[in-house]
Amino acid sequence: MKRAIFFIVLVTSLLIPFRGNAYTLVIDAGHGGKDAGALGFVSKEKNINLAIALAFGKLVEQNCPDVKVIYTRKTDTFIELDQRARIANRNKADLFVSIHTNSTAAGRKGTTARGTETYTLGMHRAADNLAVAKRENSVITLESNYEERYEGFDPRSSESYIIFELMQDTHMQQSVKFAGMVQNQFSTHAGRVNKGVFQAGFLVLRNTSMPSVLIELGYINNRQEEQFLNSADGIAKMSRAIFNAFQSYYKQ
Ligand SMILES: [Zn+2]
Repeated sequence: MKRAIFFIVLVTSLLIPFRGNAYTLVIDAGHGGKDAGALGFVSKEKNINLAIALAFGKLVEQNCPDVKVIYTRKTDTFIELDQRARIANRNKADLFVSIHTNSTAAGRKGTTARGTETYTLGMHRAADNLAVAKRENSVITLESNYEERYEGFDPRSSESYIIFELMQDTHMQQSVKFAGMVQNQFSTHAGRVNKGVFQAGFLVLRNTSMPSVLIELGYINNRQEEQFLNSADGIAKMSRAIFNAFQSYYKQ
């Protein structure tokens, strides 16, 4: 019996070194290159997303040596939506975080809408969120052969979203849990309006096979929020808020 216990201890201690770098986080800065995303008065969504994605990743790299951070882009380049999910799947990621900035239909006419939202994939309560999903998904029309590659999916058609009902998100619970932590940190650490956690049919999340969320940092067509998200203080606070959420989620 003693020998068996010794054997178990030996095997366990041999396995411990392999646990290093076992956790992989994929950070996805939305849009990029020819796809600017939503437009503000003085900035573009793609640049806000990238600045906060890089700052968040840096905090993880500095504070969580066991976590491997992979970025879908680190520069202003165009990456197709399905490629973003493929990067996460290929690297067997444990968590996928897609970072975006919101806008209303009013565009540069401006809006008083404000606050942060975090989405997980799902359609059962998603009818209200179709507008946000349609806008974020419409980028695929810039990609070649998108109808073929996304199995006939038309990002502007409501009917196309019905296919999401057939898909099971086995990672839903964890995604929702992390999304709640992110929202909580946005209000407590960054002083943002917490609009809550929602489900919607985002293509970028559809093909990921791990817990995944899509963050909307605030409204680029709200002058105050745009200014905040482009400021050094705003970038520091928002990236720290996502990091705080990640750290608690990861520890659990
Ligand atoms: Zn976006």
